[in-house]
Amino acid sequence: MSMEMEENQGPPRRGPRGAGGPGGDKKSGSSVRKRGFTRRKVCRFCADKTLVIDYKDSQLLKYFVTDRGKIVPRRISGNCAKHQRKVALSVRRSRMIALLPYSVTGA
Ligand SMILES: [Zn+2]
Repeated sequence: MSMEMEENQGPPRRGPRGAGGPGGDKKSGSSVRKRGFTRRKVCRFCADKTLVIDYKDSQLLKYFVTDRGKIVPRRISGNCAKHQRKVALSVRRSRMIALLPYSVTGA
């Protein structure tokens, strides 16, 4: 058996893009891409079919609301558009029945 495998095909790659080159106007370099937020491949509602978005489920909705009571944007929450809208709608309903705050002022 011959274990010949051509590994070097095509142009050479340099890992994930974003390494950047010298110079450039960006002051905040140092290749920090994800900070803090875990990046999900798919939204958790798509991944888990048993997970239902319910406006009465404040425990669940809390994940999608910031400390100040704002709805977490999709790029951070990782939801798909469909479910993000459902979440946003549920959060709004949840606010009406006072399960979630409209806004949290410092105090
Ligand atoms: Zn989804």
